[in-house]
Amino acid sequence: MNTVTTRMLISPPKYVQGAGAMRQLGEHVARLGENAVVLADKSVWGFVDEAVTESLAAAGVKLTKEVFGGLCTQKEIDRITAVAAEAGADVVVGIGGGTAIDTAKAVGHARGDIAVVSAPTVASTDAPTSALAVIYTEDGAFERYSFFQRNPNLVLVDTALVAGAPSRFIVSGMGDALATWYEARVCVAAQRTAMAGGLATEASLALARLCWETLMEYGHQARIAAEQHVVTPALEKVTEANTLLSGLGFESCGLAAAHGIHNGLTVSHKVHGMMHGEKVNIGTLAQLVLEGADTEELHTYLEFSRTVGLPTTLAEIGLVDPDREELLAIGRAATAEGETTHNMPFTVTAEMIADALLAGDAYAQAFAKKHG
Ligand SMILES: [Zn+2]
Repeated sequence: MNTVTTRMLISPPKYVQGAGAMRQLGEHVARLGENAVVLADKSVWGFVDEAVTESLAAAGVKLTKEVFGGLCTQKEIDRITAVAAEAGADVVVGIGGGTAIDTAKAVGHARGDIAVVSAPTVASTDAPTSALAVIYTEDGAFERYSFFQRNPNLVLVDTALVAGAPSRFIVSGMGDALATWYEARVCVAAQRTAMAGGLATEASLALARLCWETLMEYGHQARIAAEQHVVTPALEKVTEANTLLSGLGFESCGLAAAHGIHNGLTVSHKVHGMMHGEKVNIGTLAQLVLEGADTEELHTYLEFSRTVGLPTTLAEIGLVDPDREELLAIGRAATAEGETTHNMPFTVTAEMIADALLAGDAYAQAFAKKHG
């Protein structure tokens, strides 16, 4: 039984977004510390090295560069925590996608809450603003959420880098952001405690709603701008929706079945090549089916997904002709103890999830056939 009656909103103290913002990294980091460990994977270092090195040097911040292994696992967190300890760092900066950023948050926590900076180079998830990390096993399955005392001290998004990335990243981020409103409204209606530790405030619910509206209005334009690798007002708006609005919305309103089913999907090796938001989008469809969403709502979701290029069928995320046991295994993982699936206002079983995945898939196929 949920007994929390306090409302709570948590957020990073500073959010910076704009084309070329990475060149301002040094001046912002200098307000937080003087000795930074910066982690990014090898390919990301290839295009941020100059801006990071020059701006930190200009601001007088000592820099230790670290190549991130690519997965946020306990082993990788321990390894980089040792690097930060050795360097005597008072700031840890994660640059790249959600996993690099989550690792930086976990390292900051392990080092006794030194300052944490998240600098996403893609708008592919809402991880950059939150005070939690998703820890994966060595072979890439969801392991657990890890919760920290604070949100990152600074979130800095360079939209020139966002636009320069393959468009699949911002599209995937739209999948993660689209789920936010559907999950938020469930948690608010059922009076669930959000990750932030309390009930949602009106502000966080409004941000979740604005996230959804922004995607509906500018999602398609943003996808096209990203395909052309140009920064436009639509790309700026959707970057903010995917990163800030979705991040504050989910953390202070709550997650539900869409993300629980995403986590369930990660037990299948077939989907490991897919991005977070792509898998979440399948979870959103299954959640809508579970809720008994009406036809109009399903069509809004399907129409939007097809317009921006998000997967809606199981085959599109690599789950071709799944058998019942595969779907039940996903359902069991999605309903494991502590999963956000249990924020739904009714009891959800593995069987119900297997059925909802199948029904959603068949409906999406029929919709695609009808709409060419
Ligand atoms: Zn997510």
